[in-house]
Amino acid sequence: MKKKKIKILISAGPTREPIDPVRFISNYSTGALGYKIAGEAVRRGYKTILVSGVTALAPPSAVKLISVNTALEMQKVLSREFKTSHCLIMNAAVCDYRPHKVLNKKLKKHAKTINIELVRNPDILKSLAKHKKNRFLIGFSLETENVFENAFCKLKDKNLDLVVALKVNKNKTPFGLTRVNALIINKQGETQKIVNITKPELAQKLLDRVEGLWYTNCQQ
Ligand code: C5P
Repeated sequence: MKKKKIKILISAGPTREPIDPVRFISNYSTGALGYKIAGEAVRRGYKTILVSGVTALAPPSAVKLISVNTALEMQKVLSREFKTSHCLIMNAAVCDYRPHKVLNKKLKKHAKTINIELVRNPDILKSLAKHKKNRFLIGFSLETENVFENAFCKLKDKNLDLVVALKVNKNKTPFGLTRVNALIINKQGETQKIVNITKPELAQKLLDRVEGLWYTNCQQ
C-alpha cells in the first residue's frame, strides 16, 4: 500500500475536565512529542490526523488537526477516525478522572474546604483496541519506577504492538523537557533503550520502528 493511502491517527496533549464554566482539572502535558510524531509522519508521506487537547503549539503543516477538550470528546473523535485508520499512536495525556457534576455557575469561595467528586474516564486506548483487527497500536507509559514491568503490563492489558515508556527523570516529568529517556518495547518484550534524546529524534526513532515492524508487512 502506498504511504499516502495509509492513515496514521495520533493523539496528543492533555485533556481538560471542567469543574464549572471557568475551571478545570488537567495535567502538565504540552503535546510536544505528539506534535513532533505527527510532523514526522507527514514528512514520511502518511495521511496524518492529529487529535489534540488544548496546547500552545501550531500543528505541523499538512496535518489534519481536530481539537478537543475533554476525555469524552477525545474518545468520540478517536472512535470515529479509528474506523478508517491503519495505525493509532496514542500519545495524549488523558485525565483518568473527571468531575462527576459540572456546575453551570461559577463555584463561589464561601466554604473553607470543598469536595469535588470525580468519576473514572473511559480508557480510550483499551476500548479502541477491542476493535483492533490488523491495525498497529502504540501506547505511552509514564513511569517513576519498574519502568519496563509497568509499561509491558500496559502493552499486554491494552493489546498494543508497541509501548513507549518514558521515565520520570530526577523528580522531573518529561512534560516540557527537551531531552527524555525512553524504552520502546514490543510484544515479545524486546526493548530498545533510548537515552537523553530530543523529542524530534524520538519521533524519528519511533516511526523507524513502526516502519520496520509494520509498514514492511503492509507492502507484502
Ligand atoms: O494506564 P495508563 O494511563 O498509564 O496508560 C497510558 C496509555 O493509555 C497512553 O497511551 C494513554 O494515552 C492511554 N490512555 C487512554 N485513556 C485513558 C488513560 C490513558 O487512552 N483514560
